[in-house]
Amino acid sequence: MSKGILFVMSGPSGTGKGTICDELLKRYDIFLSVSTTTREIRKGETEGVTYNYTTVANFERMIKNDEMLEYAKYGNNYYGTPQKTVREMIDSGKNVLLEIEPQGAMQVKKIFTDAILMFIVPPSMAELKKRLTERGRENEEQIEERLTAARWEFGEAVKYNKVFINDDLDECVEAVISYMNEKTSERNFLNKLLKEEY
Ligand code: 5GP
Repeated sequence: MSKGILFVMSGPSGTGKGTICDELLKRYDIFLSVSTTTREIRKGETEGVTYNYTTVANFERMIKNDEMLEYAKYGNNYYGTPQKTVREMIDSGKNVLLEIEPQGAMQVKKIFTDAILMFIVPPSMAELKKRLTERGRENEEQIEERLTAARWEFGEAVKYNKVFINDDLDECVEAVISYMNEKTSERNFLNKLLKEEY
């Protein structure tokens, strides 16, 4: 059986990456990997669905035991992808989606050289600032921090396979899905070619 494709989605806070991933899950057959984090659970989040929440000691134990496919420190917290389920899914032919930040994405690219990396950007810095402000989750200082972090992330975006501008959400989701479909067809064709007798 052919292996599944590993898709990675990144993009700074406020670009709409989360909403795009939610839409993708409704409309595209893919398994979303649940990350492990040491950050506090937020209102509206569910243990085991949004994240698996754990202690720093346990996270460091998981790193030591080689349980993480990738991990990164973001803010003051650890975030990581446990590798067991991801590998099992890929081996069973299922496509997998990781929603992770760029440090982790680059680690994944080294291990799964055929992973497909997608990056979501806002139409402008001013629009990103507006979205973060309107969301009302962070204070002014935190918004400044998010914008500085976003600048760094945009610099990393050139290392991705594809960058999507999220100006209109529906159009962006359509573009992501059609890109993923194209990549899946491409892989299926190559797999077929590889198995052909001559
Ligand atoms: P948040 O705390 O807002 O949920 O996430 C902060 C950042 O961590 C986001 O950019 C998110 O994509 C990223 N992130 C979530 N899970 C993982 C993970 O397993 N590994 C890495 N490297 N980043 C992650």
